[in-house]
Amino acid sequence: ARRLRSCVMNIAIAGAGLMGRLIAWQLQRRGHQLTLFDAGDEQGTLSAAYVAAAMLAPYSEAVTSGAEMLALGKNAIGQWRELLRQLAETGAHTIDLKDSGSVVVAHELDRASLQHFSQKLRAVVGDDTSVKALDRSGITELEPELPQSFRQGLWLAGEGCLDNRALLSALHDTLVAGGAQWRSHVAVQSVEPGVLHTAARAESFDWVVDCRGLGAKADWPDVRGVRGEILWVKAPEVRLSRPVRLMHPRYHLYITPKPGDIYVVGATEIESESQAPVTVRSELELLSALYSVHSGFAEAHIVHSFARCRPALPDNLPLVRVIDGLLQVNGLYRHGYLLAPVVLASALRAFEGDCSAPFVSQMAQNTFACKTGSGR
Ligand SMILES: Cc1cc2nc3c(=O)[nH]c(=O)nc-3n(C[C@H](O)[C@H](O)[C@H](O)COP(=O)(O)OP(=O)(O)OC[C@H]3O[C@@H](n4cnc5c(N)ncnc54)[C@H](O)[C@@H]3O)c2cc1C
Repeated sequence: ARRLRSCVMNIAIAGAGLMGRLIAWQLQRRGHQLTLFDAGDEQGTLSAAYVAAAMLAPYSEAVTSGAEMLALGKNAIGQWRELLRQLAETGAHTIDLKDSGSVVVAHELDRASLQHFSQKLRAVVGDDTSVKALDRSGITELEPELPQSFRQGLWLAGEGCLDNRALLSALHDTLVAGGAQWRSHVAVQSVEPGVLHTAARAESFDWVVDCRGLGAKADWPDVRGVRGEILWVKAPEVRLSRPVRLMHPRYHLYITPKPGDIYVVGATEIESESQAPVTVRSELELLSALYSVHSGFAEAHIVHSFARCRPALPDNLPLVRVIDGLLQVNGLYRHGYLLAPVVLASALRAFEGDCSAPFVSQMAQNTFACKTGSGR
């Protein structure tokens, strides 16, 4: 290889969202010098990672993405625990990973949607004991504040969620404390092996790692954006302890509790690359569904509304592409938090020159591409 991977290298990260920060942190742990470029601020407010609900939902995702997603996602939750343990060792704040599962409910009129979801889920997970049918008393036992009118539901006991904003800030602090340079508000225009182009100049590094999500489209035309609109409400009068999903014929709502009485309410999924503010229609639908789940949300304050694009590839699965001096990671779509540890491991192995990991065998056409996922 032109660039020796074992010595200390100067590495540029283009895009300091979820994957950019995770990969930078792990490369820093291996002794490399990191410079992170991001079009936005240090908090990551332009990223999908910042606005996401950050549910680790292998069961819910498996309904549309299949058994492979389930297997990868179940493993990933254990891998997250290990990553968070490593992060805590650096002195960063402990990051909350709730793992008490999620609850799925539907109003009586929409019972067919819940049944359909349940059947599709069972077809993928078989008799997995993490999926439990709930009657009214079972729902009340898990979430006492949910209305008695919910008579049937599911408990997806193997799901969890992360405090994503705390994670992004802990990764930032750890990287900077470890000597990384952080170049905020600098848009990367294009990347090539060992070279990163900004409007001001071309800068040379030993390696460039491109994690710009939709921002990488000019270099990776297959990348598309899937618009997600999401609201953050503050509701001190509501006590939900785990993510709640509401099944509905037209949309699926989730409500995810975050620290500080915040609930993240989402999310639309629209084939559009517009990042314009949330539309009236989407906000009305999200809020009326929210209010129908718990009347205590009537007095909630809407503290943020965000529209961001989930970066996706045609098969809606992540992809790690590597050539000497350039690593490109993209396509984390709507399960980026769920799959991040898996994609991270894949990217690090690819960086170290090992494309024989489980994922490499799926890379098919392109000699330099390591396809993440297995059995496809
Ligand atoms: C509304 C919503 C809800 C979600 N909920 C969940 C969930 O519950 N569970 C889950 O697993 N996943 C969820 N996701 C998906 C998850 O957030 C993404 O898959 C993940 O953030 C993708 O990580 P990334 O690092 O590839 O991209 P991002 O996190 O978007 O980071 C990309 C970074 O690149 C920067 N950038 C872009 N262009 C440039 C440029 N030209 N130059 C420099 N920097 C640039 C951006 O500012 C950003 O910081 C959700 C996403 C959305 C939008």
